[in-house]
This record gives sequence, C-alpha cells and structure tokens, in this order.
Amino acid sequence: MKNYKGDPRLINARFKSSCCNCEAEIRKGESAYYWPHGKMIFCLVCGEPEFREFVSMAADENAYNGSGNPY
Ligand SMILES: [Zn+2]
Repeated sequence: MKNYKGDPRLINARFKSSCCNCEAEIRKGESAYYWPHGKMIFCLVCGEPEFREFVSMAADENAYNGSGNPY
C-alpha cells in the first residue's frame, strides 16, 4: 500500500494529550491514532473505526489505479 503524506497512523504519544473526540487522557508512551492532517489525536477506541475506513479507502484507490491485485 502506498503511503501518502498526511495519512493517519498509529503512534506512541510523545507527550500527554487527550482524545479529540471523547477527551480521554492519552498518556505519554501510550498508543494513539494521529491524523497529521488537522493535527488531531484520537484514543484507540475513537480512532480505530476511522482508521479502518481510511485503510479500506486507500485499498480501493490502489485497485482503481491498477497498482496491484490483492488476489
Ligand atoms: Zn476517544
């Protein structure tokens, strides 16, 4: 899968933060989803559905571009 700049990704928080959606505390060193585009950080609960959606969208894009057949 191609990686674009600005893709959401799973990170380890480098500093204490809180989820942009539910405001749950994200402690330093904890896993969280980060959206560079918009500089948003989400806890694992809130970030996962969005992240999955992104991954499936990106996979569709690859299929359209004919840059790889997953089967
Ligand atoms: Zn959350």
